Amino acid sequence: MAFSCRQCGTCCMYLGDYIVIEEQTGPFSFACESVSTGTPFTAEIDEDKREIFRDHSFPDTHPHACRFLRPDGDLLRCTIHRDSPAQCKFYRCVAMRISDSSGKSLGYVTGALALHSDNTELRSLWEKIIEQERPRSDSEAEPWISRILTENGFTTG
Ligand code: SF4
Ligand code: SF4
Repeated sequence: MAFSCRQCGTCCMYLGDYIVIEEQTGPFSFACESVSTGTPFTAEIDEDKREIFRDHSFPDTHPHACRFLRPDGDLLRCTIHRDSPAQCKFYRCVAMRISDSSGKSLGYVTGALALHSDNTELRSLWEKIIEQERPRSDSEAEPWISRILTENGFTTG
């Protein structure tokens, strides 16, 4: 399914140690590092988010959150959407939602293809078949997983 980020900000709440500001290089410009990949990057605050970025009360009270995250109404928004590192841009908290034949939600699969579910039958299928036999390439694995789930009576979307 096409992933649509709701900008809830949940995935950025504990990334303060991973997206690090090394130096402020201008009023809204920063030299940064993406620690998990050791990649330096430069970021400029998006023009339409400079007003919310100026307010530091959120990062001051959420020391583990990414320094670029700010509340905006009901949303938590990335203020460097244009310049954020690739792993942020391509991150998908949900790649596939799984339900039973009546439409009851049973769990979901993350963009890294990890199952989040407490359903025993689903977990068993995942551990015994999907984890063992799935194609190693993620692009092939996703449709393959969906097919196996469907063949076993689950609905994916
Ligand atoms: S990727 Fe998911 S967790 Fe992260 S902001 Fe978007 S909807 Fe929220
Ligand atoms: S750079 Fe943006 S998307 Fe990446 S962790 Fe920070 S707030 Fe989230």
